[in-house]
Amino acid sequence: MPKTIKKLAVLTSGGDSPGMNAAIRSVVRTCAYHGIECFGVYKGYEGLIEGDFKRMDARSVKGIINKGGTILKSARSKEFRTVEGRQKAYKQLIDANIDSLVVIGGDGSFTGALIFNQEFGFPVMGIPGTIDNDIVGTSHTLGFDTALNTVVDAIDKIRDTASSHNRLFFVEVMGRDVGHIALNAGIAGGAEEILIPEEDLGLDRLVESLNRSRKSGKTSSIVIVAEGDKIGKNIFELKDYVDDNMEGYDVRVSVLGHMQRGGPPSCFDRVLASRMGVKAVESLLDGETNYMVGLLNGKMELTPLDNAIKGKTKINLELLRVSDIMST
Ligand code: ATP
Repeated sequence: MPKTIKKLAVLTSGGDSPGMNAAIRSVVRTCAYHGIECFGVYKGYEGLIEGDFKRMDARSVKGIINKGGTILKSARSKEFRTVEGRQKAYKQLIDANIDSLVVIGGDGSFTGALIFNQEFGFPVMGIPGTIDNDIVGTSHTLGFDTALNTVVDAIDKIRDTASSHNRLFFVEVMGRDVGHIALNAGIAGGAEEILIPEEDLGLDRLVESLNRSRKSGKTSSIVIVAEGDKIGKNIFELKDYVDDNMEGYDVRVSVLGHMQRGGPPSCFDRVLASRMGVKAVESLLDGETNYMVGLLNGKMELTPLDNAIKGKTKINLELLRVSDIMST
C-alpha cells in the first residue's frame, strides 16, 4: 500500500446517527494501525473553520463503539457554505499539516466536501452517516438499522395500548424525502397501512382500507406515516380526517421524533461502521479521493461523491407489495 498520507482529520457533520462513534473509532484505529497521525475535528465544518482539532490515538476512542451520537459533536455550518469559510478551513488544515479528510455525514456534508476538494484539491473521503438510508452508493447508511430497531420497538409498545383500547394509532416516523424507515419498520411492526412520500394513497383509499381491516375483524390498527408523506398536510390533520370519516375507533397520534436518532448502535451498524472506517482510510492511503465508501452486494465499494449526492435512493417496490399483502 503506497503511503500517500501522513496526517488525517475526521469529522461528523449534519444530523447525528447511531454508528458515528463506531466509525470515528474505526478511522482512528485504522490510522494508528498504518502509522498515520489522526485528528478529530469538533462540530463538523464549524470546527474545521475554527481549527478545533484534537490529536486522537487508538486509546482516545475506547468505550465508544456502543454509544449513540458523536463524541466529536456535529453541527450545520453556514460559514462553510461560503468561499471565505472554506478558505479559512483550508488554511487551518494546512497550518496543522493535515493532508486528508474523512467526512462522516449525509449528502449535504458530502456536497460541502466535494466543493472543498474542487476548490483546493484537498483529498476527501465520505462515510454515509444518516438514519434515512437515502444515499446512493450504499445499501445501508450508518444508523439506519439501529433506527429501524428503535421504531419497531416503539410500534410494538404502541400496539399493546392500541389493542387494549380498540384504538387506531397514526405513528409518525422520520423520512422527509424517502420512506425507507416507514416501509421497513411498518412491515416489521405489522402496520395496517404505511404512508410514504413516494406514494400518494389518497385519503379516501386510506379510510376504505381501514374500514376493510375493521370488517375483517381487526379491533385496532397502526398506520405508519413518514414525515414527508404527501397524503395529508400533517399527521394531526390525518387524524382529524379519519375521526370525521370513520366510526368505531378512538384515533390517536404518536410522533416518535428524535428518539429515532438515539441509542446504542445495533450490531449491524457497529460492524458496518468498522468496515467503512477501514475502507475510508485505506482508500485515501491508496491515493483515492472524492469518494464515498458504501456497502454494495455485501462488499465495501467506492462511489464518486458526485454520484452519491445525486438524487435519493429508491424504495424497494417488492417491499410495498409485501406490505400490501400483509395488511390483508
Ligand atoms: P442529514 O442527512 O442528517 O441532513 P447532511 O450532511 O445532509 O445530514 P446538511 O445540513 O445538509 O446535513 O449539511 C451539513 C453541512 O454540510 C452544512 O451545514 C454545511 O456546512 C455543509 N454543506 C451542505 N451543503 C453545502 C454546500 N452546497 N456547499 C458547502 N457546504 C455545504
